[in-house]
Amino acid sequence: MKLFIHRKDLRTDDLTAFDYLREQEEESVHVLIYDPFLLRQGREKEHSGVNFRRHAARLGEQYRESKQKLHVAYGKPAEVVDFILNQFKGDITEIVVHRDMTPYAMERDRGIRKVSEAHDVTFTQLTDHLLMDLNGFTNFTGKSEPYKVFAAFHRRWVEFMNEHPNPPSAATVADVKVSDCQIEWPEQMQIPQELLEGSVSDNEEPHLLLDQFVVNRMAEYGEHRDEYEAYEPSHLSSYVAVGAVSIRKMYDAANRVAEAEEWIRQLCFRDFYLYRAVYESHYFTYEKVYDLSALHEAHFERWCKAETGIPIIDAAMTELNETGHMPNRLRILTAMFLTKNLQCPFTLGEAYFRRKLSDYDNIQNRGNWLWCASLGENAAPYFRVNNPVTQSEKYDPQGDYIRRWLPVLKDLHSKDIHQPRKDAIVDLKASRQAAIDVYKQILASRKK
Ligand SMILES: Cc1cc2nc3c(=O)[nH]c(=O)nc-3n(C[C@H](O)[C@H](O)[C@H](O)COP(=O)(O)OP(=O)(O)OC[C@H]3O[C@@H](n4cnc5c(N)ncnc54)[C@H](O)[C@@H]3O)c2cc1C
Repeated sequence: MKLFIHRKDLRTDDLTAFDYLREQEEESVHVLIYDPFLLRQGREKEHSGVNFRRHAARLGEQYRESKQKLHVAYGKPAEVVDFILNQFKGDITEIVVHRDMTPYAMERDRGIRKVSEAHDVTFTQLTDHLLMDLNGFTNFTGKSEPYKVFAAFHRRWVEFMNEHPNPPSAATVADVKVSDCQIEWPEQMQIPQELLEGSVSDNEEPHLLLDQFVVNRMAEYGEHRDEYEAYEPSHLSSYVAVGAVSIRKMYDAANRVAEAEEWIRQLCFRDFYLYRAVYESHYFTYEKVYDLSALHEAHFERWCKAETGIPIIDAAMTELNETGHMPNRLRILTAMFLTKNLQCPFTLGEAYFRRKLSDYDNIQNRGNWLWCASLGENAAPYFRVNNPVTQSEKYDPQGDYIRRWLPVLKDLHSKDIHQPRKDAIVDLKASRQAAIDVYKQILASRKK
């Protein structure tokens, strides 16, 4: 018998592991573990934690609808696995999971591997998150050094995906021999009631969102994606982050229609950050590679509380705080404003987004924050400091987004609504020049 553990793959269709289990033709016990490291210290109540809990509830419903058994446990994953292997007394011969590349996930999986070895059980990690096959891509490019810059990576990625498509599988949980055995969890491994509260799965069906986007809005994506008030992108990222929708199905749907290049380019961005996280030794430690001591956190709290006095920044932070969403263009503006105009270390903004974003994903979040802060291999030039006022005028000329999220300003004329308030915490022009000077020094401080 096998043990399959769900993690960032909260769905029952098109999972690499389901294809694998089907080929093995053996029964498998399926478990979802609520990990206190990821779901405690208040995170369970933040948008990212709520997103996970909702999709976890939906996963349970999907298993029930397929008349299959999903076990749900609470605790440190290695301890839960140890408990299960003891319960099954040698009947489980292999543990199957999807590979995850964050530092915490790798440490967690080292723990699970240790337990599996102690029980003489095989530990198999399959790849499900990425569109491309990492080893296949490396062989295809023939490069000894990984790509550092997105543009070059993107060119080769498109060629690779055309030659080696990774089509979705038609298999669902109904095609897998899921064991219906019972597990009597000890009290400490039962899900605490407060983690189940507010977990009602009112999520929209992601395939419906995908179809509607592909049919109605995909063609305008390239031209209008930055118009955060007038245009709606796919809104799939909070599903992608927990694996509630298959990335292969997204790519496949896009690939069938014309004018999908720009959207597919975003999926490539996602693969690029996953690729860099695997191959870039400093990906998670850039704060130690540069000397960031010239930066400070004086204005950080005002930024979090949407009290900077720059209307578009405060509107975007209000949306984030209230809903867990923020359009991509505004993530760029708020991140650049924090790191450059306010000279705040990117790690603080990154950590704030970790709690607040519904679609929080460690690797994607870090890659994007590094880009905005001009740090790392693939980053915006240090002298690029977007002006939030002119960007606001450009992408939402009437200021409707500001009116929606900052109703106190709703009666202002569209000429005035974008302008800094009298009590703005920085002067945009002066802080831009200061940021350029400071970041020039920071980049020069890079350790080899
Ligand atoms: C500072 C900052 C932090 C970010 N943090 C996250 C995060 O924690 N989690 C996250 O999923 N995205 C993050 N992004 C990327 C991006 O903003 C979101 O993926 C996008 O806004 C999601 O909206 P959508 O699903 O409508 O995407 P669409 O525009 O419809 O794009 C389709 C899919 O492509 C992927 N994608 C799009 N843009 C990017 C990008 N820049 N980088 C990587 N993948 C992308 C997402 O999976 C998205 O669902 C961040 C961007 C910035 C600038």
